[in-house]
Amino acid sequence: MESRNWIGGEWYTPTGGTMAVHNPSRTAEQLGTLYLSRPEDAVAAGHAARQALPKWAGMTGAARAEVLYKAAELFHQHLDSLARLASAEMGKPITEMRGEVMRAVHILRYYAAEGVRAIGSVIPANGKDVLQFTKRVPLGVVGVITPWNFPVAIPIWKIAPALICGNTVVWKPAEMASLTATRVTELLAEAGVPAGVLNLVIGEGATVGQALLDAVDLDGVSFTGSTTTGRKVAAACASRNIKYQTEMGGKNAAVVWRDADLAKTIPALISGAFSSAGQKCTATSRIIVDRACFDEVVARLADAIASIRVGPALEPETYMGPVASQAQYDKVTSYVRLAEQDGQVLARGRTDVDTTLGYYVLPMLATGVAVDHPLVQEEIFGPVATILAADSFEEAMALCNQTVYGLSASIFTQDLQKALRFLEEAEAGLVRVNLETAGVEYQSPFGGMKASSSHTREQGQAALEFYTQVKTCAVYYG
Ligand code: ADP
Repeated sequence: MESRNWIGGEWYTPTGGTMAVHNPSRTAEQLGTLYLSRPEDAVAAGHAARQALPKWAGMTGAARAEVLYKAAELFHQHLDSLARLASAEMGKPITEMRGEVMRAVHILRYYAAEGVRAIGSVIPANGKDVLQFTKRVPLGVVGVITPWNFPVAIPIWKIAPALICGNTVVWKPAEMASLTATRVTELLAEAGVPAGVLNLVIGEGATVGQALLDAVDLDGVSFTGSTTTGRKVAAACASRNIKYQTEMGGKNAAVVWRDADLAKTIPALISGAFSSAGQKCTATSRIIVDRACFDEVVARLADAIASIRVGPALEPETYMGPVASQAQYDKVTSYVRLAEQDGQVLARGRTDVDTTLGYYVLPMLATGVAVDHPLVQEEIFGPVATILAADSFEEAMALCNQTVYGLSASIFTQDLQKALRFLEEAEAGLVRVNLETAGVEYQSPFGGMKASSSHTREQGQAALEFYTQVKTCAVYYG
């Protein structure tokens, strides 16, 4: 397969260079080729989006909804082939990837229905014979910059609300998810997204992403990715006074209290830490355990880790695939070496697969490092979890909050008082009881505190706030 740009309703192959796409489950296999854009392509996409804006913004929500309903239908119809492409491209196991595509279907339906939702409010006026009310209007042209770890769901949870609110979009997907992005765009085009309303620009972050921020006439930017890049995006937008949202890193903790139902807790910890090979911003990377049950939790986690099925992403029995790329492999294995060198490895996964064929990193549970150690403080974005013991609930909470990040946090307990205190005291945008740190539903606000986000929220109704601006209207009829 080859990537293509879609700009102003035209498919074309940009000429800024090429990049081979290899299957992370079997790196010898080349899946396709990316054709990279030049900065001028981003500028052209911006012009197309600006030109398409008045007509799209002027349509009724109900008419825009028809396109999203049709897209939902097409994504559902092509669920299997889209999931297979995305799994092959970035290594997420096929069963999980099918779930991700289904999530995109639900998001498209959800935002389609928003096209006819009542919005705004009538506000009593102090002046006589004045009707005063608010209405929401589109932001305008929105730049959407997405990562590779949810190659279908994240773009859709930005693009669907942007479109239903009447915006036009320039989308710059991650290099490592650009074959999938091309297919996602083909489906949206087939669904009837008009020329220029969505524009796909494939290319590198440092050139095309940067050009989008510096040289394109934008009214808003929605970004998900690393904290370093997110801060650059925020700075660029702030200097241009463009509305932005950035979703960045996490270092999410799961606290296990002594009365937790371990039969349910252990699978939730395993899924939180190791599904998607830990490559979720909401992945569990610190497990904080009441010392009263520490040994038992370690023993059970070690058993569970030993039975994790590691293998190629496209095999239906695979629970954990490879990490997505050489860069990911190098980064994650550097933390594995750090754990072996500075700490104590409590459990390591096994596999019969020849791990040299792809970017396989076996799941790992580590301990024995100080709280300020990189294993406990830095986002690893891989299948490496660190376990820490706490002697009191207060210590568990202090450890939980001892991070610059604040995306997601969970507690496992039957104790209502502890659960409620946790929801109150945990410094995270997503706080959960007896549920893994990952997996928030699309109809709920998603986002983090502290260094994890720009303090905005995505998905649910929150997305509608980002992709619109409020007008206060007043009419004198006396
Ligand atoms: P990761 O390290 O996981 O690849 P990044 O934050 O680098 O995360 O990437 C997230 C998205 O941001 C990708 O689409 C990437 O191409 C894009 N990106 C990277 N650098 C820049 C930049 N300087 N300006 C705009 N976008 C960028």
